[in-house]
Amino acid sequence: MTTPESAIALVIAAHPDDGDFGAGGYCSVLASQGWEVHFLVCTNGAKGTADRTMNRDRLIAIRREEQEEACRRMGVRGVHFLDNEDGELVYDRRLLDQIVRHIRWTRPHTVFTHDTDQVVRDSFINHPDHRATGTATLDAVYPTARDHLNFPEHLEEGLEPHKVREILLWSTNHPNFEVDFGEMVERKIYALSAHASQVGGQKDFATFARDRWKADDGRYLERFRRIELGF
Ligand SMILES: [Zn+2]
Repeated sequence: MTTPESAIALVIAAHPDDGDFGAGGYCSVLASQGWEVHFLVCTNGAKGTADRTMNRDRLIAIRREEQEEACRRMGVRGVHFLDNEDGELVYDRRLLDQIVRHIRWTRPHTVFTHDTDQVVRDSFINHPDHRATGTATLDAVYPTARDHLNFPEHLEEGLEPHKVREILLWSTNHPNFEVDFGEMVERKIYALSAHASQVGGQKDFATFARDRWKADDGRYLERFRRIELGF
């Protein structure tokens, strides 16, 4: 694809590892082409371990470190975390404010996030944190971040209104855009394997992942619902 004037992408995910699973291949491709890629993780990652000896603060710290390492492996420029409780994310003004602030700060051409459908491909239920993140992100992109009258206090902090040009939703029922990330398959696996607290227990994770991403014709594809914002 042609590189736009502002080659900046922002991945907005609910939990550590979501953005990597959803878009880690394409993000690695973009980073290798010189794009500045940022990650925003909307919860603190304090849930989802079967380890009864794990304490919550330690889990939060471990998940952060893992996401930071995964981002380094993908060539991502920066990763930020919001302090919202994992498993309890709701879409409210505060979440919208946090996401709008981040969009105005990073000024992305492309935003990646979760699709907001509750049931995906009749095969799994989309986590409520994912849906809250996706819904707040779409509203942040349009119309909230564009208009200086929304969260006008941002102006005082030097955060100007911003128009995102492209949205890519992963785990979608309506894919209309696919990316062949064959050159970055091993990089995506390497990035995901940094999330040892989440994928470390899975035997043969790499084999499982390669099989899952491989299309019938042998290509490795990430599929998105793509929305181009023309105005
Ligand atoms: Zn998640």
